[in-house]
Amino acid sequence: QMQELEDRLVLGARLREAIARDELSLHYQPQLAAADLRVTGFEALVRWNRPDLGPVPPGRFIPIAESLGLMPEVGLWVLNETCRQLSAWLEQGRSGFTVAVNFSAQQLQRPDIVDQVREALARHGVPATMLEIELTESSLMENVERVQGRLAELKALGVSLSLDDFGTGYSSLSYLREFSLDKLKIDRSFVNDLPESTDDAVIARTIVAMAHQLRLRVAAEGVENEAQAGFLRQIGCDELQGYHFGRPAPADEIDRKFPRD
Ligand code: C2E
Ligand code: MG
Ligand code: MG
Repeated sequence: QMQELEDRLVLGARLREAIARDELSLHYQPQLAAADLRVTGFEALVRWNRPDLGPVPPGRFIPIAESLGLMPEVGLWVLNETCRQLSAWLEQGRSGFTVAVNFSAQQLQRPDIVDQVREALARHGVPATMLEIELTESSLMENVERVQGRLAELKALGVSLSLDDFGTGYSSLSYLREFSLDKLKIDRSFVNDLPESTDDAVIARTIVAMAHQLRLRVAAEGVENEAQAGFLRQIGCDELQGYHFGRPAPADEIDRKFPRD
C-alpha cells in the first residue's frame, strides 16, 4: 500500500517528463510459427529507464500511467517508435514479418486513435499489414459499441488485431464474434504448468479448438521450455512466444540475433 502510494507520487511526477527526456525505449520479443519455428514477427514492449531510478518495469509504471491518464501519450510514442523501427528494418531489406504493439484501454477510447495509426504508418511509409495491435479483454468491454466501430476502422486500414492475455479477463465470449479479431493469445498463466497440469492442458486445448472454429489464430505467450512448446505445437497452437525462443531485446540486438534471411 505504502509502496503503491509512493510509486504514484514519485513515478507519476517523473513519468510526465519521461517522453520529453527520451527515457522510453522499446524491446522486441520474437514470435514464431509453431509448425517450423520460423520468426513471424516481434512484440514491441515499452521500457522506461529513468537515470535516477534505474529501469522501471512496465508492470509497475503502466498502472500509474493509466491512473494519471498518461497512457494515450505513452501509447502514441510507442506507436510512432514502432513504425520508425519498422521503416528502418524495411530499409535494411527486412520484410515479411509483423510487429505487435500493445494498446491500453484509454488509447482505444481516444476519438483520434484511428487517425493516429493511419498517420504513424504513412509518416514512416510502413504497410499496415506489418502492424498488429494487441488488445485486452477489459479494454474491449468499455463502451462496446464505440470500440466495435474503432476496431472495424483499424481493420479497414489493414492492421490485424490480437486479444492479449486471453482467459484472464471477464470472458464474455460474445465479443469473439462481435469484434473482428484475428488472433487470441493464451495467457501465460495457462502455459506455465503445461504439460503436467491436466486442468491447464484442457484449458489450452479448449481455447485452441474454439479459436480455430471461429477462424482465429492462436498464440501462446510465456513459453519457457521445450516441453511446453512441444505440447502447444501438438495441440495445434499456431504461434509461440516466450523466453525459450528469445527474451525481449533492443532492436540492435534483434538485428544481430536474427540476421536478414
Ligand atoms: P504482455 O503484453 O502480455 O507482454 C508479455 C509480457 O510477458 C512481457 O512483460 C514479456 O517480457 C513477458 N514474457 C515474455 N515471455 C515470457 C516468458 O517466457 N516468461 C515470463 N515469465 N514472462 C515472459 P513486460 O515487458 O514486463 O510487459 C508486461 C505488460 O506490460 C505487457 O504484458 C503489457 O500488458 C504491458 N505493456 C508492455 N509494453 C506496453 C505498451 O507499449 N503499451 C501498453 N499499453 N502496455 C504495455
Ligand atoms: Mg502483449
Ligand atoms: Mg500477454
